[in-house]
Amino acid sequence: MTTSPDLLVVGSGFFGLTVAERAASAGRKVTVIDRRSHIGGNAYTENEPSTGIEVHKYGAHLFHTSNATVWEYVNRFTAFTSYVHRVYTTHKGVVFPLPINLGTINQFFQAAYTPDEARALVHELAGEFDPTRAQNLEERAIGLIGRPLYEAFIRDYTAKQWQTAPTELPASVISRLPVRYTYDNRYFNDTWEGLPVDGYTAWLERMADHPNIEVALDVDFFDEAQPLNKDATVGQLPIVYTGPVDRYFDYAAGELSWRTLDFEQEVLEIGDFQGTSVMNYADADVPYTRIHEFKHFHPERADRYPADRTVIVREYSRFAERADEPYYPVNTTADRTGLLAYRDLQQGEVGVHFGGRLGTYQYLDMHMAIGSALSMWNNTLA
Ligand code: FAD
Ligand code: UDP
Repeated sequence: MTTSPDLLVVGSGFFGLTVAERAASAGRKVTVIDRRSHIGGNAYTENEPSTGIEVHKYGAHLFHTSNATVWEYVNRFTAFTSYVHRVYTTHKGVVFPLPINLGTINQFFQAAYTPDEARALVHELAGEFDPTRAQNLEERAIGLIGRPLYEAFIRDYTAKQWQTAPTELPASVISRLPVRYTYDNRYFNDTWEGLPVDGYTAWLERMADHPNIEVALDVDFFDEAQPLNKDATVGQLPIVYTGPVDRYFDYAAGELSWRTLDFEQEVLEIGDFQGTSVMNYADADVPYTRIHEFKHFHPERADRYPADRTVIVREYSRFAERADEPYYPVNTTADRTGLLAYRDLQQGEVGVHFGGRLGTYQYLDMHMAIGSALSMWNNTLA
């Protein structure tokens, strides 16, 4: 391992690799360390050995963006398939399309409303709260779709996913779910979407494949036995840190709460389990939030994937303990206060740049992590 690079990047997820790739292309020597035994952070995928089906190890990752700069940048490392993400949900034994759209509304109310009729109905049902003034997720959701649809599709799913009362969650979480008065059930609204043609790991490896980049795996920034540890490097060279911000400061301002996921993977001796890539389970009596069936992400690989076997993953959500992987910032009021304290502490860390989902305690999608890494490079580091 080079002990004196020009830049040390802690974490090889999309944020860290984007900064590393930009710096390397500008002629800087970069060392990237990651405590895991593979690069790529949570976007890492691997092929299930008995079927060859690409499995997203840390949960399904769908790439989508409307940011032209990001789209141009990512296309330097991979081509994308024409996959368009659609999600269905099972409620009381019946399957409905998501996001909530005219099809969902008509199926739920056993009706044939036109767009205007459905809009008028939802408007009437949603009168309880003004969504623009919503104080929390429950108020925003009821203000957008009304109580019956909220209770069927949102309330219990959200409670399972966040293990936090919807009245305690920020309204912004639900802004991610659009409501449509057409039968369009594309999950994302973005200009571009697709999956990397030869997989996420190939894409991530291409980003790291530069003579100026050295990657060291199984290396923890806080392990004093390794030479590029925190005490040995802070103040000595520029550092981009993409691990959890509370861990960096040894939890001096308290622990920020995170949600983690447990994945239960099964190889089934059938060709098709659910006919689609993601099925949500809206009801409280089903313990998991959703089931992923990975072969459906790549219909174009049908000739390479087995016709008589499939890989499914049930996803369970719970609060993260310190030893768990922190996946989603929960962002309660107490967390937001803690985060402000950590932002103050960051001012004293000369030459350390906090980035990415864990480093900024923000719900960043891949394109957002890449976009903010490009900005950090252009505006600060370069
Ligand atoms: P990460 O990918 O988390 O990388 C951080 C890296 O830092 C990790 O590899 C970690 O091991 C390393 N690290 C941490 N601490 C240390 C340490 N002390 N020493 C060394 N290394 C350390 N985005 C989308 O756009 N679409 C999706 O469909 C989507 N689905 C998602 C589903 C799930 C379940 C999750 C969790 C996220 C999803 N995302 C999705 C978000 C996506 O994963 C992130 O945008 C992306 O991973 C952010 O990259 P990052 O580099 O900030 O963080
Ligand atoms: N959500 C829900 N029911 C669903 C899907 C989503 O209530 O069937 C809510 C839930 O609160 C979730 C948020 O919408 O946290 C965002 O959903 P998304 O699928 O975008 O979340 P992610 O894929 O990041 O877990």
